[in-house]
Amino acid sequence: MIVDTTKGMFINGDWVGSESDSWIEVLNPATREKITEIPSGSDIETKKAIQAADQAFTEWAEKTARERSTYLYKAYNLMLERKEKLASLLTEEQGKPLNEARGEIEFAASFLLWYAEEANRVYGEMIPASKKNKRLWVVPKPVGVVAAITPWNFPAAMVTRKVAPALAAGCTVVLKPAEQTPLSAIEIVKIFEEVGLPKGVLNLVAGDPEKIGNEIMESSTVRLVTFTGSTRVGKLLMEGAAKTVKKLSLELGGHAPLLVFEDADLDLAVDQAIASKYRNCGQTCICTNRIYVHSNVKEQFVNKLEQKVKALQIGAGSEETVDVGPLINEEGLAKVKDQVQDATSKGAEVKTGGKQWEGPGGYFYEPTILANVTDEMKIMSQETFGPVVPVQVFNHEEEAVAAANNTDYGLAAFLFTKDLDKAITVMEKLEYGIIGINDVFPGTAEAPFGGIKQSGLGKEGGHEGIREFLEMKYVSVAVADKK
Ligand code: NAP
Repeated sequence: MIVDTTKGMFINGDWVGSESDSWIEVLNPATREKITEIPSGSDIETKKAIQAADQAFTEWAEKTARERSTYLYKAYNLMLERKEKLASLLTEEQGKPLNEARGEIEFAASFLLWYAEEANRVYGEMIPASKKNKRLWVVPKPVGVVAAITPWNFPAAMVTRKVAPALAAGCTVVLKPAEQTPLSAIEIVKIFEEVGLPKGVLNLVAGDPEKIGNEIMESSTVRLVTFTGSTRVGKLLMEGAAKTVKKLSLELGGHAPLLVFEDADLDLAVDQAIASKYRNCGQTCICTNRIYVHSNVKEQFVNKLEQKVKALQIGAGSEETVDVGPLINEEGLAKVKDQVQDATSKGAEVKTGGKQWEGPGGYFYEPTILANVTDEMKIMSQETFGPVVPVQVFNHEEEAVAAANNTDYGLAAFLFTKDLDKAITVMEKLEYGIIGINDVFPGTAEAPFGGIKQSGLGKEGGHEGIREFLEMKYVSVAVADKK
């Protein structure tokens, strides 16, 4: 541990404790043992953090883009220097295998680098006017104070994917990380402190989600809430934003279908399906939630999948050889058990897995494949967030596309085929914000990530990601001497 855990919140450049002397226990999900406890903040600390961000805003926004980007470059380098320490902390509080945690730290750092560069490319526009005496400009301006609310499944990358573009755009930030995984966020804020970010520019408040959330939503100082988490909380924030007409950027839940066509490279499809389904123990928003496989290759595909899933090693993420770690908590485990129980009670066949695994005492569930699934089963419509995959069969392309689109979610969809025409036509028909063609790893700092339908609003990453943090100021100038 690098932080003094009695002071876990960062407000106006100081590490502070909780005014109410309440605490959050941070547990290791692989053992259910307490790692540490940190102060739990509420409306009081949130108000102070918002004030600090407000006071720091003008000076930060007036810095040149190059000045702002310098802090991000330095933070990028420091984060990579600390990769090993940050990765093991991430594994301890979140559970994912160490190699995945290392990958997440690199991914998190890549947003610092990308937005260090993008800070310098925030261009405005000159519009050709319809009158000779007019000059029309569009000038991008930072929106102001931003609240960034992050989930536990990517405790580092979801922080930098929001904080980096916000700072690059000239916004100041109040960060609220998830209660289960505040330690990685604290370490990232420490990095910004160490690179000399001016006080008040980045603040961190962890604690009571409703009190912190309400304070943020009631505040007319906060001009944008950037949120990653469940669709349920996203909808609450949309209601709250109406009070002060805030901007919202929402990265919400998903229910990704993975389509395997008859002509697919089956070995590739199997390997990628496993990578997509079981990484982070199935707890990513773009994890495959349902597989649809063509009837002519179903036997082959399921047999190969079963062989490889049976070989996955389950255990504490801190062990280098482990492939699948624990779920985050009891609630996550209960949801997985409920979906499997519901499916089997309605006739699903467990090909492998299908039960809890005790291991070192954490929230483990065996990597599971379900066959003979029907649309009535909860797992076909509810986000699973666990290591279970249902496999359904299709006969025609239209049937597969209709099944894939039959959801309120619209985050990511994957398809496997060697036929370029089919890849393009199916991609065009899929109602999703992100499509992976023979590729289940679309997330990267330089591309826009985000869902449609009830999976969210706005994009993170790419040049689109910084736009969320900007307002377009329109300027009309009348030039006196021209008619
Ligand atoms: P969650 O329960 O919605 O929590 C997300 C964040 O919101 C946490 O910091 C949480 O705080 C906070 N929160 C909870 N209630 C709140 C309220 N009333 N007001 C303000 N903030 C509140 O989601 P989660 O379980 O942490 O994360 C899993 C979900 O995130 C999944 O649905 C997943 O698909 C989605 N996700 C989406 C993306 C994407 O890019 N689209 C990426 C990753 C995850 P506490 O932790 O203190 O409760």
